[in-house]
Amino acid sequence: MGKIRIAIDIDNVIADFEGAFRREINKKYNYELKRKDIKEFDFHKCTNLTEKQEQMLFNDFINNDGFVNLKLIRGSRENITKIKENNFIILITSRPKALRNITLEWFRRKRVPYDKIIWSKNKHLQKTKYDILIEDKFEYALDVAKKDRKVILIDYPWNRKNIFHRNIIRVKKWNDIVSVIRKLKEAQ
Ligand SMILES: [Mg+2]
Repeated sequence: MGKIRIAIDIDNVIADFEGAFRREINKKYNYELKRKDIKEFDFHKCTNLTEKQEQMLFNDFINNDGFVNLKLIRGSRENITKIKENNFIILITSRPKALRNITLEWFRRKRVPYDKIIWSKNKHLQKTKYDILIEDKFEYALDVAKKDRKVILIDYPWNRKNIFHRNIIRVKKWNDIVSVIRKLKEAQ
């Protein structure tokens, strides 16, 4: 079977941004937020934080090397390495472009292989050519699914919506993804 183009989001798919940023919020505001409490993608929508406070904390997080120190999501490196043997891997991220060098260095250090990286908030646009997207943000997943592309959505509290789409396949963990991709390729 030929190679297909698989796009992979970075934050909360490969790098554990949510865990690190949540710990910063807990420290600064004396909260005890757990992952299960983060039921919205934007932290200010599921905490007492204002949008401005979240933005300020995010800027501090960037300035204090928060993105440098992110941990790998369990199973991501091993499975991406496996998927890359037979497919083309495109990282696609809506991170600020100021994080470009930090991001490239992080991928070198963590030894996560890929073929290409795209900086874009518009993951659903046709000009970014890929066959499958692996994502954690529901709104992005739905936009892409509506454009008739398949999305593998990694399950998190913030993406459990009561909306279903035939192009969105929800998985619990990275170890489930290789077989989902194989099945999608067989069905092509
Ligand atoms: Mg993400």
